[in-house]
Amino acid sequence: MMKNKFTTLLLFSVSVFSCNTQTTNSENPAVQSSENTSKLEYLKSIKKIDVHMHIRSDQQYLTDFMDEWNFKFNTVCIPSSNPKTLQAQIDTAISLYQTKPRYYAWITGVDMTNFTEPGWTEAAIAKLKVDFGQGAVGVKVVKSVGMSIKKPNGEYLQLDDPIFTPIFEFIAQEGKTLLVHAGEPIHAWMPTYFTKEGVGRNYWATHPDYSFWDKPELPSYSDIMAARDHVIERHPNLRFVGAHLGSMEFDVDEIITRLERYPNFAVELGGRTRYFMWQARGKVIDFFTRYQDRIMYGTDKGSGTTMTAEEKESTSNGIRYRNDLFLKYYTTSDDIPWGNVIASDRPRPNSTYTVKGIDLPKEILDKFFYKNAVKWFPGID
Ligand SMILES: [Zn+2]
Repeated sequence: MMKNKFTTLLLFSVSVFSCNTQTTNSENPAVQSSENTSKLEYLKSIKKIDVHMHIRSDQQYLTDFMDEWNFKFNTVCIPSSNPKTLQAQIDTAISLYQTKPRYYAWITGVDMTNFTEPGWTEAAIAKLKVDFGQGAVGVKVVKSVGMSIKKPNGEYLQLDDPIFTPIFEFIAQEGKTLLVHAGEPIHAWMPTYFTKEGVGRNYWATHPDYSFWDKPELPSYSDIMAARDHVIERHPNLRFVGAHLGSMEFDVDEIITRLERYPNFAVELGGRTRYFMWQARGKVIDFFTRYQDRIMYGTDKGSGTTMTAEEKESTSNGIRYRNDLFLKYYTTSDDIPWGNVIASDRPRPNSTYTVKGIDLPKEILDKFFYKNAVKWFPGID
């Protein structure tokens, strides 16, 4: 197994090398930079779908961006402790989908309130049927399943609990897709820290409610991953997409293990590009080359229910900045600024750290930004 992987890597490196030797201009920075620009222009021009957005109100900055960059957004409705919040997101998604189908597709969520009541599973299925009739291309299950919802016996409800089985069977039977945000990045189980100045240098230092460090009574990272894997395995006819790279963003090898094991499994980025930037460049390129039919682009941005003018501007800028940076990373071999991943920093414009873009070929960009979304979420476009 190890040997095979190593051989593939070697072969891949050789092929990259031979490509470069054929391109006599590759040593010339000026020519290379114009190649980068043209590939970036190509990517900006082709139709693209961001499969992981949260749109809670229609905003001009969203359609402006989509027109300018030729994007379509798939808005994902997420359950919360208040079922009205979920239904409000669903109502917004349906109205966006019906009035602006060029711009929006949508995914519904499962309301977990009253899941211990008899008849909950049947009611959840009946509701999904209604939402599918309104154009939902899939169903999202969020991390509260696994991490925070408790059963009456005190155990944490996991994704492989039998109450979900008929629901997952129904989703498969309807030809829809299950999108699951399972757990958190593995760093949520690691120590949090602050700088000497008291600045939180780790997302979980500033969001202690989401930190699982030193809380042995809470589910472990591997418990949550295992429950997720059981479901993928038990439902081979269900298209299962792991949000945020299946929360295995720290190492593409973890993702590869599942992609090899489960043909019905794919992943979407969910804004985790900076974790690729942290890993060996050749390994990430190899991952994209071998699994080019099973990775989708998503940024996990969107709009709030109500927004001030400043919030609109900063969110719009955030969407533009994030896409501008990430599109360059995937499309060019330019030096891209990034943050310190272990500290969970965001990529920064004036970062002292840079990584080289992975320069994916056009055929892979086509799949990653569009074709795979159409394949894994039928009806999305
Ligand atoms: Zn999200």
